[in-house]
Amino acid sequence: MAEIESHDYDVIVIGAGGAGLRAAIEARSRGLRTAVLCKSLFGKAHTVMAEGGIAAAMGNVNSGDDWQVHFRDTMRGGKFLNNWRMAELHATEAPQRVWELETYGALFDRTADGRISQRNFGGHEYPRLAHVGDRTGLELIRTLQQQVVSLQQSDHAEHGDYEAGLRVFAEFTVTDLLLDDDRIAGTLGYWRENGRFVRLRAPAVVLATGGIGKSFKVTSNSWEYTGDGHALALRAGARLINMEFVQFHPTGMVWPPSVKGILVTESVRGDGGVLRDASGRRFMFDYIPEVFKESYADSPEEADRWYSDPDNNRRPPELLPRDEVARAINNEVKEGRGTPHGGVYLDVASRLSTEEIMRRLPSMHHQFKELADVDITSERMEVGPTCHYVMGGVEVDPDTAASSVPGLFAAGEVAGGMHGSNRLGGNSLSDLLVFGRRAGAGAAEHVAAARHAHPDVSEEVVTEAVNSALAPFEVTDARGQENPYSLQAELQQVMNRLVGIIRDGAEMCAALEQLAEIKQRAARLAVPEGNRHFNPGWHLALDLRNMLVVSECVAAAALRRTESRGGHTRDDHPGMNPKWRGTLLGCELRDGSIEITEHEQPPMREDLLRLFSLEELGKYFTEEELAVVRTPS
Ligand code: FAD
Repeated sequence: MAEIESHDYDVIVIGAGGAGLRAAIEARSRGLRTAVLCKSLFGKAHTVMAEGGIAAAMGNVNSGDDWQVHFRDTMRGGKFLNNWRMAELHATEAPQRVWELETYGALFDRTADGRISQRNFGGHEYPRLAHVGDRTGLELIRTLQQQVVSLQQSDHAEHGDYEAGLRVFAEFTVTDLLLDDDRIAGTLGYWRENGRFVRLRAPAVVLATGGIGKSFKVTSNSWEYTGDGHALALRAGARLINMEFVQFHPTGMVWPPSVKGILVTESVRGDGGVLRDASGRRFMFDYIPEVFKESYADSPEEADRWYSDPDNNRRPPELLPRDEVARAINNEVKEGRGTPHGGVYLDVASRLSTEEIMRRLPSMHHQFKELADVDITSERMEVGPTCHYVMGGVEVDPDTAASSVPGLFAAGEVAGGMHGSNRLGGNSLSDLLVFGRRAGAGAAEHVAAARHAHPDVSEEVVTEAVNSALAPFEVTDARGQENPYSLQAELQQVMNRLVGIIRDGAEMCAALEQLAEIKQRAARLAVPEGNRHFNPGWHLALDLRNMLVVSECVAAAALRRTESRGGHTRDDHPGMNPKWRGTLLGCELRDGSIEITEHEQPPMREDLLRLFSLEELGKYFTEEELAVVRTPS
């Protein structure tokens, strides 16, 4: 094999969204030589698209808020399937991470008395989302990047080289993790511009690659989100958990077709917007589930009073967790009460003044005006569910973000456990910072421990990875060649149609059969045109390997879980089953196929269990699990 570009680092971070940048800052600040790799331009990641805000119990707008309330909301939102230790760390550390962002230069919207302002969001008991209008992710990425640049400037001052301690490889795609026996030893990737391969050696890799949404036809996710990190972890021998839980955000654009799926932020509802059927009826009052009845208003009058007097009224049902609202919209459309383009109306025009809309929701105004020619200050938006977020991901140790593969860490959307069966809005941005920092620290500690036993990458391992990436150029016989774009479209249809928002056993069996067939055909994926110089067909052929294995995980785990919970709704198994609450489904790759295994959920610590009423716990837990809190402490 020809010589390929090679570099040595202490820590490699794959992904330059919020989780990746925070991990890299931590590793570099602890003195480690760190590389950050990202598939698209530096600064272009899902994090930058985040609109609504970052959840942190700072209590600035309602002093009743604290970490225990945030913890409770997060566990309720995830229907108690969350890894409780992650939820605890997240709730306790999120405020510090937001304040830290201010030290990096972030400028959040303020309250009248000058504190960071916080807004309402679905499932959060108090106004909790720190925000910058509806462009919060942009501010988050801007300030993390600024911190990266600032570290690079100090490296230049000390070593005469900006990249001595922290280098960014942009428009660079990782195709494989390289192992030394079962330990991490580095990565193989290629420059998207010229297709040249690069080997990076390091004893620690942090996966921060975001989500999997591009496996579904209607999605808020952009082109990069093909589940690469999930697939890299599987191929390296790590386990994924909770893959059956995919979040369909209730409000994506439904019209025109070219923009179907683009997100309409939950802040529209948080700031007073309401959902109406085609006749103008506010329908969410019909969809308050038993477990949430006590906390949500049952009349429009009470719901509207809540905005000005939250202490004496219950919340509007438009602010139920996302899974509940998405199912309600789905049902309205199915029963024939939808809008002409198959959605429902989201109405903020009749609820807020033009000035308020322009101040609080400038991006939404721009988005609808430009893309749909709708002026949201005077017209209603048409919206419907869109695939948005994956709760499932790499199983990690909550404190260190370490996976079961020595040297492999994961943080952000690619990691599993934190959000259980359903994520609350705003809890992702805080998750990225809390666990990004922990992953950077975990990787640094791992490197320190491995200081005298650095793993190495054999030439055979690298050659095998390069050959596998070049395989689509070797399929030269025109008969039987498969086109990456057609296969991707087929895959997206299968996932949307058969493993979407409402599922049933027969459909998922059909999905698994069709995925197996697509997988067979994918062996003949070909790139008949062009060479390795910027060749999107080749890039997609490589991404498709990842999308396929991740889709198989989602479908197989969803088939196995015979209950409905959070982001997993089965027509043939409606309702939650307490036995399933204690069970996590793991996905592992064995001989090229996904194997699903059942694992017991670690029991929640007693002091955390006692934060909930027995009556509430009784809706989720078995009698056996509750024995510990039935006796007074
Ligand atoms: P990302 O920000 O998605 O970054 C992933 C990185 O990995 C990118 O740099 C990408 O290029 C890189 N990458 C991927 N694969 C490879 C590869 N093979 N090789 C090299 N690099 C790779 N959450 C909230 O909490 N609040 C909100 O208001 C909010 N609004 C949202 C609005 C939209 C439109 C969307 C899509 C999501 C929103 N979310 C929100 C969710 C949240 O933005 C994401 O979950 C979060 O940003 C994920 O961050 P991350 O750091 O894990 O990954």
